[in-house]
Amino acid sequence: MDDCLFCKFVSGVLKTDIIYQDEDFIIFKDINPQAKNHFLAVPKKHFKYLAEMSDDDGALLGRILKKISSLSDELGLKNGYRLVINQGDDAGQTVPHLHIHILSGQKMQWNPA
Ligand code: AMP
Ligand code: ZN
Repeated sequence: MDDCLFCKFVSGVLKTDIIYQDEDFIIFKDINPQAKNHFLAVPKKHFKYLAEMSDDDGALLGRILKKISSLSDELGLKNGYRLVINQGDDAGQTVPHLHIHILSGQKMQWNPA
């Protein structure tokens, strides 16, 4: 998608600090970290909502989640971590390309407000 920030990271039109990538997705650092470590996992395929996904996209998401869990050293997952997917306005989704927030490196509170 031409007008999408994360598609531009995927295509390389815009540069970001990519920690990991494969045929399915990229991982880079969030520009405005909400925890000691804050990464974003972004599928290379553009969609905004989980609800838009086909069955194949569901399998893609499963592969991404499994891969994230294997990147313990790179993402600082050893002592625990949190994955977040914001969907829509109430959740505060600001970038309309599905992404998984990966938060780690500290004790976290649980407060969705
Ligand atoms: P969300 O609010 O769930 O849509 O998450 C979007 C995330 O993208 C936020 O945590 C932003 O800090 C992050 N973000 C926005 N622009 C950039 C950028 N240029 N590089 C890295 N992360 C970004
Ligand atoms: Zn996109």
